[in-house]
Amino acid sequence: MQRILDSGAAVYLLLVLLVLTAIALIVSRLSYRRYRRRAEEEEYRKREASKRRYVTAKMKERVLERDNATCRICGISREYLDSFSEGLGDYLLLEIDHKIPVKQGGSGSDESNLQVLCWRCNRKKSGSRTNEEVAAMIDYGIDRMKKRRGIFRR
Ligand SMILES: [Zn+2]
Repeated sequence: MQRILDSGAAVYLLLVLLVLTAIALIVSRLSYRRYRRRAEEEEYRKREASKRRYVTAKMKERVLERDNATCRICGISREYLDSFSEGLGDYLLLEIDHKIPVKQGGSGSDESNLQVLCWRCNRKKSGSRTNEEVAAMIDYGIDRMKKRRGIFRR
């Protein structure tokens, strides 16, 4: 019995094990490479998208001026808040929003794809809703109050 194991059979068994190990190693190596390549591609795509999404200070300034520094959905502005109490407008956070998100193919550099939104409307819009959908969701009462105060204009 021992003689048989000592001879060719043991060597043969060892060889088979070696070959199997080598195959397993090669397969895992290849799948790791594929995983790495995909991760790198994904990261590159994200970096490019964030570059395209970037709005320069000059663009922000122009869009704020064009939209009269007023949220395009709810119509809130510093001026409006200041009409209640001087300085209240300082608490308003206006943001520049991509009407069609860059991720969904919207332009990142075309100012016609940019608009002023207040932070509240922008969170509600969150990259998946249209202005109309957000407007239907919200009721901050701003339009009503503006009408009542006679400073509604649009
Ligand atoms: Zn708003």
